[in-house]
Amino acid sequence: MSDCLFCKISRGEIPAGKVYEDDEVIAFHDINPAAPVHMLLIPRQHIASLADAQDEHQALLGKMLLLAPRLAREQGLGDGFRTVINTGRGGGQEVFHLHLHIIGGSTIPPMVRHH
Ligand code: AMP
Ligand code: ZN
Repeated sequence: MSDCLFCKISRGEIPAGKVYEDDEVIAFHDINPAAPVHMLLIPRQHIASLADAQDEHQALLGKMLLLAPRLAREQGLGDGFRTVINTGRGGGQEVFHLHLHIIGGSTIPPMVRHH
């Protein structure tokens, strides 16, 4: 998936405001932040969405979830943050490379309007 936007960011072909990277994952600032802090944490491996993740990705997904609070703390979100994974068109996903949103730094509204 060489023409994937987030694969290009992972390879350094498109600039991004990186906040963390290792051999498996990379985190960077969302280009259109929904709050004062809005990071995206992605696997370097191209997985199109959470619905495309397999058993073999279990450790990678666990790593991402465990990394989120650390990155949030480092960005000043010691008081809390929101994590979001949009999955598929029905879930509002726009970039089809799995990513975990880490959002915070202002009053976070209720995520779901009940009706
Ligand atoms: P989603 O709707 O969950 O697929 O979210 C995609 C996110 O990627 C949106 O919040 C966009 O603002 C963000 N985004 C799109 N292009 C870039 C980019 N080049 N660098 C950083 N974030 C991006
Ligand atoms: Zn990709």
